[in-house]
Amino acid sequence: MGRASYGGLRMKAIGIVRKLDRLGRIVIPMELRRTYDLQIGSPVEIFVDGRGIVLRKHQPYCIFCGETEDIMQIHEKNVCKACLDAIRTYPLR
Ligand SMILES: [Zn+2]
Repeated sequence: MGRASYGGLRMKAIGIVRKLDRLGRIVIPMELRRTYDLQIGSPVEIFVDGRGIVLRKHQPYCIFCGETEDIMQIHEKNVCKACLDAIRTYPLR
């Protein structure tokens, strides 16, 4: 097992290798599903860069600042309360 740097994120190898099935699926081990609260139907977001693929439980995040708390949808876009307040009070000319 080793560690790898993934952008600013430190990734830790946990010694699990899984084979893709013919439809491109893998099974996420039960222990990891428990640890990351992934249940049947949980949305999982897929991130990529030039080096690999990262899976993360999907959480709506603010399109402006990336915050995941106090998110509301406006025209199908996620915006946090702080950014919404900033937009509301933005001086118009
Ligand atoms: Zn925001």
